[in-house]
Amino acid sequence: MQLDRIELADIHHPVVLAKTIHTLLGKIEHAVPITEIARGLDIEDVRVDHFGGFEGMLLTDKARSTGCILANSSKGNRRVRFTVAHELGHFLM
Ligand SMILES: [Zn+2]
Repeated sequence: MQLDRIELADIHHPVVLAKTIHTLLGKIEHAVPITEIARGLDIEDVRVDHFGGFEGMLLTDKARSTGCILANSSKGNRRVRFTVAHELGHFLM
């Protein structure tokens, strides 16, 4: 997936960020490939598992140079996809 965080660096509004990512991706025929988008934007790993006590977590360094997203699978795939997108938003903004 050809994405570059440099093109998103000055965007501070979530709707503008999402629209810009969609523009960069072009037409998508199926569900938005949120895990691939995250990996294309410097998330090294997306771990989906039955975690206790949280729905999602972003692990990153102070400069957010890279990151890892944890997503709880207890409430189903739709919730996992939301969580990954939500944590990616934290990483990018
Ligand atoms: Zn949050």
